[in-house]
Amino acid sequence: MNIHEYQAKALLRSYGAPVSDGRVVLRAEEAKTAAGEMDGPLWVVKAQIHAGGRGKGKFKEAEAGEKGGVRLAKSVGEAAEEARKMLGRTLVTHQTGPAGKQVNRIYIEDGSDIARELYLALLVDRQSSRISFVASTEGGMDIEEVAASTPEKIVSFSIDPASGLSDFHGRRVAFALGLTGGQVKQCVGLVKILYKAFVEKDMEMLEINPLIVTPDGDIKVLDAKVSFDGNAIYRHADIAALRDETEEEPKELAASKFDLNYIALDGEIGCMVNGAGLAMATMDIIKLYGAEPANFLDVGGSATKEKVTEAFKIITSDPNVKGILVNIFGGIMRCDVIAEGVVSAVKEVGLQVPLVVRLEGTNVERGKEIINTSGLNVIAGDNLADAAKKIVKAVKG
Ligand code: GDP
Ligand code: MG
Repeated sequence: MNIHEYQAKALLRSYGAPVSDGRVVLRAEEAKTAAGEMDGPLWVVKAQIHAGGRGKGKFKEAEAGEKGGVRLAKSVGEAAEEARKMLGRTLVTHQTGPAGKQVNRIYIEDGSDIARELYLALLVDRQSSRISFVASTEGGMDIEEVAASTPEKIVSFSIDPASGLSDFHGRRVAFALGLTGGQVKQCVGLVKILYKAFVEKDMEMLEINPLIVTPDGDIKVLDAKVSFDGNAIYRHADIAALRDETEEEPKELAASKFDLNYIALDGEIGCMVNGAGLAMATMDIIKLYGAEPANFLDVGGSATKEKVTEAFKIITSDPNVKGILVNIFGGIMRCDVIAEGVVSAVKEVGLQVPLVVRLEGTNVERGKEIINTSGLNVIAGDNLADAAKKIVKAVKG
């Protein structure tokens, strides 16, 4: 689960991290009052979307030379004006995809003077099964680009959970960032704060880009991107309350309400599968036979008829879907339940595209009978390869 920058900063502030004063506004009329609560002489007006690269991003229908989603203002009036200009418009960054994201919230921050921009992140490193720090002197830039062109400028190490974090790790980060004198001590403190927040709140990623050094020699969190482990959200009511559903893909949101594992993709064949491994294999075989999957969908091992119906509705609501492949291996999941779900969904929402169903396992005969006597125009698949070939043929002609 992702949150907005202003929420991430409030959370980090509550742990004692150095962040600027700021106000979030949802309506243009609130901007002037909000900006007026800070002294200036510099204000930063920041579009809040669940994507990075806002500064270098471009608004749709932007005027020539118009600034991106992070703008500096020299007066309260200017800050309010920039907020008004951005609210409600669609911002496209390298992380949003070409469709962009609508800006519904603006964060107005007390502007900082910057001497240096640095990069610092914590993430769960799956290879070492540990929390890793990633630090670089090249802050404010796209870190993927730094990794590709100058990998020697990135320092990364992981924390042994048995011994935990110590000051040594903080100093290691400080030296990687080229900090000296009193900044080292500040960095050691910040590293402790970030690590504590990361562990306590079950974060998946915490990226500060940039972490800045001010002309006075202080370090400060200028941008913060945080995502949480979705499987641990139930432990954190405070974090769950930060969820902004308008930022989420509508189909993925609907799927999450029914506890379906759904991820929208770009292809043309909708897939309904039980089990993540089988879902992956199904996507692979669709590609093997020359088409692309429109989604990943695992209905899980304990799907009910209602859940299957909902899954089917989500797939058919995608206009890119030109054909559907249902691939079920009934272990715990029973084939007749899937069949009933498919039939009831089709009756409810109709079927405008070819449908191939391959059932195997528990109650397979009963499942096939339900499909065969339903009067639906369903193509039966004999096995995984046969089913994949049939749906690709039906879609590609
Ligand atoms: P992003 O583009 O989505 O990563 O948004 P950031 O919050 O990282 O802002 C982009 C850039 O705007 C930063 O790298 C800074 O160069 C600049 N910026 C952001 N806040 C301030 C500020 O308080 N003062 C100044 N001078 N520049 C800022
Ligand atoms: Mg940034």
